[in-house]
Amino acid sequence: MSKDIKKYKLLLDGELITTDQSIEVINPANEEIIALCSKATNKELDLAIESAKKSQKLWAKTGIEERQQVLHEITNVIKDNRDQIARILTLEQGKTFIAAKGEVQFAEAFCNYFANQSLDNQLLKDDDSSIIEIHRLPLGVVAAIAPWNFPFLIAVYKTAPAILMGNSIILKPAPTTPISTCFFGELLQPIVPRGLINIITDENELGPTITRHPDIAKISFTGSTFTGKKVAENSGSTLTRLTLELGGNDPAIVMADAQPSKIAQDIFNSSMNNTGQICAAIKRLYVHQDIYEEMCNELKKIADGTKVGDGFEQGSDLGPLQNKNQYEKVKSYIEEAKQKGNIISGGEPLEGPGYFIPITLVKDIQDGAKLVDEEQFGPILPIIKYDDIDEVIDLSNSSKYGLGASVWSENIKKAREVAIKLEAGSVWVNQHAAIGPDIPLSGAKESGLGVEWGEEGLKEFTQLKILNIKK
Ligand code: NAD
Repeated sequence: MSKDIKKYKLLLDGELITTDQSIEVINPANEEIIALCSKATNKELDLAIESAKKSQKLWAKTGIEERQQVLHEITNVIKDNRDQIARILTLEQGKTFIAAKGEVQFAEAFCNYFANQSLDNQLLKDDDSSIIEIHRLPLGVVAAIAPWNFPFLIAVYKTAPAILMGNSIILKPAPTTPISTCFFGELLQPIVPRGLINIITDENELGPTITRHPDIAKISFTGSTFTGKKVAENSGSTLTRLTLELGGNDPAIVMADAQPSKIAQDIFNSSMNNTGQICAAIKRLYVHQDIYEEMCNELKKIADGTKVGDGFEQGSDLGPLQNKNQYEKVKSYIEEAKQKGNIISGGEPLEGPGYFIPITLVKDIQDGAKLVDEEQFGPILPIIKYDDIDEVIDLSNSSKYGLGASVWSENIKKAREVAIKLEAGSVWVNQHAAIGPDIPLSGAKESGLGVEWGEEGLKEFTQLKILNIKK
């Protein structure tokens, strides 16, 4: 390890603080240590909560314009440092530098969107007997817990609505991708009030303490369904408000009248972007038997021409998996797929170092295989043949997940009829994972609880209060 390796600091109570303990941050493209990150203990967590409590009391008294102004400043500082943030993202997350810049730009768009929002009081009734108004109050201290697939974007899109609504926030990034969030802290330190935004890090130890803490008013969690259930359990004792954005196993149904050559690239991207590590990626592809072979061939052509490599290398289309655990998990899906289907592209992990898996397409596989039934979260797609649309709707709906789904057809009316029957929080037609700051995102079934983004998402950072005055 180089001696001049940077140790990132935590933003705590308005100061950038180095702690005694460190997290070693690994570049997934070569498995080398690229940085150290200060690791928080219960002491730093207590400081973050105390500081956030104090700060929130003052912040709640500010007007919406002042809060919007701070969000505009945050948007600008992100924009001004886009390339540097993107470089850190490629180093710690593995995605290509172009994709990393895209993530930062999307974060700017979210921050800018919330910087232009407000929720006015609403008059529900004003008649001879009473005036009834709906008010929206801040909740208090929000804890935001993030995963490792879009570390910067998720940190920003949780921070912006939380502080706009008069809350303070404590951000906790995932253990393997903490430094883009810590760098965000460096950028925020000169421009946000002391204690309004605090950053702590861990190696999975602090979650239970945060989620049980009586001084945390809301938890905004994005991560796996497995951990989301623990969060729900732990926060039950204090009835802490919860938003859970969890796992998915999104089906895409390609109808008999679809044109494979026209839609293959979009389907491919919707499955493989971010090396398949997207909650709402296409994770099972159901294709009508009449066009099954053609669709498989079109996807194979694209897969064979897609280069997985170091995110900084010219010519790399996709990066490695983000961490070793995920790499091992995806390899186990490939092993099973070799028994349960036919691999038509990829199939063998690339030689290391680095957590590289080539784009892997599996045809002639069916429901009942792990790769179809579970969330693979990697660049491996099962392509399943169907002949009866009602059966495939049932199969799509048989999952415990319900994050997203899509239907692909030349006939929008027919596709719409199928889309209506799919059990998911978002259903797209002739596209997948088309998301944005103004469009609410919500998971059905075990894909989540509550809503993020848009006005619906903003409301989740408030306490509803009814003011009911007798005349
Ligand atoms: P994870 O659940 O392992 O970790 C997420 C976060 O939870 C990390 O910060 C982790 O340190 C923390 N954590 C661990 N144990 C905890 C506990 N007991 N209490 C509280 N927090 C705890 O998820 P991951 O592997 O980092 O991310 C991948 C998963 O995230 C996938 O399932 C993916 O679908 C999901 N995801 C969902 C969305 C969405 O919007 N629905 C978006 C991105 C990722």
